[in-house]
Amino acid sequence: MLKKIRVKTNRRVELLDISQQIKSLIKEEKINNGIAIIYTPHTTAAITINEHADPDVVADIISEINKIVPFSDGYQHFEGNSAAHIKSSLFGPSETIIIEKGKLLMGRWQGIFFCEFDGPRNRELYVKIIED
Ligand code: ZN
Repeated sequence: MLKKIRVKTNRRVELLDISQQIKSLIKEEKINNGIAIIYTPHTTAAITINEHADPDVVADIISEINKIVPFSDGYQHFEGNSAAHIKSSLFGPSETIIIEKGKLLMGRWQGIFFCEFDGPRNRELYVKIIED
């Protein structure tokens, strides 16, 4: 099964919690056991898993990644968004999650995030589910 999900980001750099959308999809499709691959086809975005209980964690991730990879640093790329490309590669375009007994096998505090590094924009991601 393959689904495309559209998301709209609101900031230049933003971690958008998409956990509920993925959970709903697994429920709707009545997936019991398998794996879900969550993948974004953009070069200035990413998918990551981290804490979504305390929103300060996301705020700290954004604040630090912006320091590690500054918006301008003598980059050569003509588009002027090299920082976003670098952040995209650091985080990576996908995550793989085990589905067990109809649920994502994730830690209590974990959430799935769509990472925007060159927003705001309309974006998309794919969810591929392989059942066993
Ligand atoms: Zn670019």
